Amino acid sequence: MPDVVFLGPPGSGKGTQAARVASARGWVHLSTGDLFRRHLRERTPLGALAHRYIDEGRLVPDSVTVDMVRERLGEVPAATPIVFDGFPRTVAQADALDALLAERGRSLGRVLILDVPRETLVARIAGRAKSSGRTDETPEVVARRLDVYASETAPLVAHYDERGLLIHVDGTGSVDAVDDTIARVLP
Ligand code: AMP
Repeated sequence: MPDVVFLGPPGSGKGTQAARVASARGWVHLSTGDLFRRHLRERTPLGALAHRYIDEGRLVPDSVTVDMVRERLGEVPAATPIVFDGFPRTVAQADALDALLAERGRSLGRVLILDVPRETLVARIAGRAKSSGRTDETPEVVARRLDVYASETAPLVAHYDERGLLIHVDGTGSVDAVDDTIARVLP
């Protein structure tokens, strides 16, 4: 079973859905945001480097991010599919992902984009900001993250559509409703 990428703006629910898809199928959930947050908690050199980018809602440089993904990929058994969440976020990262997967005899089968309008995203993040414990959920940083998504990551939608890999998923319903939609498009 080839690997899967979840694309979607902050607040689209892609982290929640990617985790569900992976755990229901015994696949690996690879979230670069989670990996960075673990480095922050463990106060590693990578965490120290990533810290200010995350707190400002900007992207950690591609080379740093790709190296981290390469390392994590090395731990995943060849036969276990991966759900990528929050990676790739730039066209350069998408190209790097192709190369990393090819090196390991893996390939990308599907790219899901969770479609949610911006007003809903802002409202959702405002609702969860206090409970998430994340330092990047203030209104200013959320606005920056949405802008960065629009300029850096949204071009990946067309990129994967051209390759025939893209599936649009309506991300506006409840977690269970979105999960049902995803179950219909993923085996
Ligand atoms: P997320 O949990 O996916 O929203 O990611 C939180 C933050 O981690 C982002 O706002 C970025 O600062 C950083 N980050 C996560 N994934 C990437 C990535 N693929 N490339 C660059 N920065 C990332």
